[in-house]
Amino acid sequence: MVKTPFHEICLSTEIFCQECKEKLNTRFSFTDVTISRLILELLGKKKEFENLEYIGSAESSKLIVLIFNEANILESKYDALSLLLSRVREATKKDVVVTDRKENLRTLMEKIAGSSAKVLYIRELWLPDGSKAKEIRIRGKLKFNEKEISQVLSKILNEKIEISLEEVKAGE
Ligand SMILES: [Zn+2]
Repeated sequence: MVKTPFHEICLSTEIFCQECKEKLNTRFSFTDVTISRLILELLGKKKEFENLEYIGSAESSKLIVLIFNEANILESKYDALSLLLSRVREATKKDVVVTDRKENLRTLMEKIAGSSAKVLYIRELWLPDGSKAKEIRIRGKLKFNEKEISQVLSKILNEKIEISLEEVKAGE
């Protein structure tokens, strides 16, 4: 059985128990409810997904990242997953990226950035207020603006992420 953050009964009746309500008031959004429903509907009865767990999402205005417990599920179970992704795209009107809990920052950044951008380096830096952040240096053209990407990455990794773009000179 596919797992989502919410009880199946709560998702299907739309009457959320105290525990699910609590989750909605804290870590999860109504987008997660929509996605959890779609996951149950599309993958819930498939044997190949019985150990799959939907952990949650991070979103900005144009982008949503779905986090699962399994690495490379998009590659290994492409057909079923691509149907889910197109339904999520339809429901949220956002671009969808799939990741897992353990994916490293560079890989995740590359997935979000698209093929026309390259990650040059990632380094730690201290912000003026004394807190730490990670800077991702990018060359090329990003599919989403830096603010959107850093918002999503910061939420997934629970740390401050800053993105800086290297100017590409003409002819390069
Ligand atoms: Zn519940």
